[in-house]
Amino acid sequence: MAISTLPLFIGGKAVFSSSGETFTNYRPMDGAVDREISLAGPDDVELAISVAQNAQEEWATVPGIERGRILLAAARIMRDRRQEIAEIETLDTGKPISETPYADVDSAIDALEFFGGIAMDMKGDFHDLGNGSMAYSIREPLGVCAGIGAWNYPLQIATWKSAPALAAGNAMIFKPSELTPLNAYTLAEIYREAGLPDGLFNVVQGMGQVGAILASHPGIDKLTFTGSVPTGKRVLEAAASTVKHTTMELGGKSPLIIFEDADLDNAVAAAMNANFYSQGEVCSNGTRVFVHASIRDMFLEKLVERTEKMVIGDPMAEETHVGALISEDHGEKVLSYVELGVQQGATLITGGERVEVPDMEGGFYMSPAVFAGCEDHMRICQEEIFGPVMSVLTFQDEKEVIKRANNTEFGLAAGLFTKDLARAHRVVRKLQAGSCWVNNYNLTPAGVPFGGSKQSGIGRENCARTLDHFSEIKSVYVELGDVESSY
Ligand code: NDP
Repeated sequence: MAISTLPLFIGGKAVFSSSGETFTNYRPMDGAVDREISLAGPDDVELAISVAQNAQEEWATVPGIERGRILLAAARIMRDRRQEIAEIETLDTGKPISETPYADVDSAIDALEFFGGIAMDMKGDFHDLGNGSMAYSIREPLGVCAGIGAWNYPLQIATWKSAPALAAGNAMIFKPSELTPLNAYTLAEIYREAGLPDGLFNVVQGMGQVGAILASHPGIDKLTFTGSVPTGKRVLEAAASTVKHTTMELGGKSPLIIFEDADLDNAVAAAMNANFYSQGEVCSNGTRVFVHASIRDMFLEKLVERTEKMVIGDPMAEETHVGALISEDHGEKVLSYVELGVQQGATLITGGERVEVPDMEGGFYMSPAVFAGCEDHMRICQEEIFGPVMSVLTFQDEKEVIKRANNTEFGLAAGLFTKDLARAHRVVRKLQAGSCWVNNYNLTPAGVPFGGSKQSGIGRENCARTLDHFSEIKSVYVELGDVESSY
């Protein structure tokens, strides 16, 4: 993408906003200006909706197997461009290059392959009603879907939303976060090259206002949103004005429970993944780590030793484990939570400091923080920090820890470590969370539903049932006999 201003993508081509306005994209790694981004206004959104509506009418009649083939072709193109796309993602997010080929690009490829494979499986039911009469149901696409994304997994979010939408016969207009606008455009290029008809995947760039237009627009039939709970609530209110179908993937403050019989090395590894991967900017992170009191000291010792070996640095360097936080503002917010934790009486046992990385002065880097001696009421244990800050709490028994783990408005995810399988399944049944991991954390393979309960969301992504969230049922009653009349 050797261009100085990134355009919008509408109707199968690059277009600049009708106002000519742009906004600046900065690189998290060093704070340098990356490029200007064309800023969509209401006219551009109108154009995108109208081309999407026209294209979708035709797309809905294309057999599922052919829709799927296009997604599979897109997967192949993405695989060929894997490293280049991973580098764009690292540039745009500050996440280390040791992660983005796998957690971002491969995850997007998996989604394209998964939904490409099941696009032909949109089917309804048949009901024999006796006397030759029958009813059947048809799954039909919804129309034009809007996708609004967060900045932490921009390519994954755009693909997890668009692949099922397109597989089910819809069109999509996608608005990435203003902080990470790049790879939604790459995805649009890939879909076009794969043979997706013009107008079916459109990218409009801009801030929350652009998302707000989409959320309330009567031409949008479904809204799928990934972001924070407060924004999600606003978006839901706007979507209610036209009673849109919605999928909401929101924030979390998930518990990770380490029982006394856990394999400690694995538990430590998982707790680190669950808090420090992608600089801790992961919605499903297990940021409340409940450790059985009898193994607390051993757990903390191993945890600190390994955490202090993590390499903080240039996100483009292969050896880097911890890259740059998304922005200066966000970094300051994360550090303010570290201060708050200390003020409220938790013990900071490692990290939690801003780190200067040579030649990356404008980037915001920090050492992964571990708090011990945490208590449930502390704000670091209640609020989503979205940075590399782990809170370790202790517990004595199973019943107690389940109650404390569930004592939150969030319900995105949960994890537990134990060698006792009966206990694992018993506890999982009681945890209020959309995804639970036993003896691991944060794995999201294609095909396995992902999404939140309670205030963490509505609906599920990444699985066959997602097609249900991108379609609706039409019931057809067929009478083969005479009409019985009471008159
Ligand atoms: P935000 O809620 O701030 O923003 C999400 C998206 O909504 C952005 O594209 C934003 O635009 C847009 N937006 C802002 N205001 C409005 C509005 N009024 N109407 C419509 N759209 C609007 O989230 P972040 O980008 O800060 O992402 C972090 C959050 O995302 C965390 O809470 C995290 O837990 C959650 N998340 C959830 C995931 C899940 O699957 N459950 C996965 C990943 C993240 P802009 O940024 O351009 O202003």
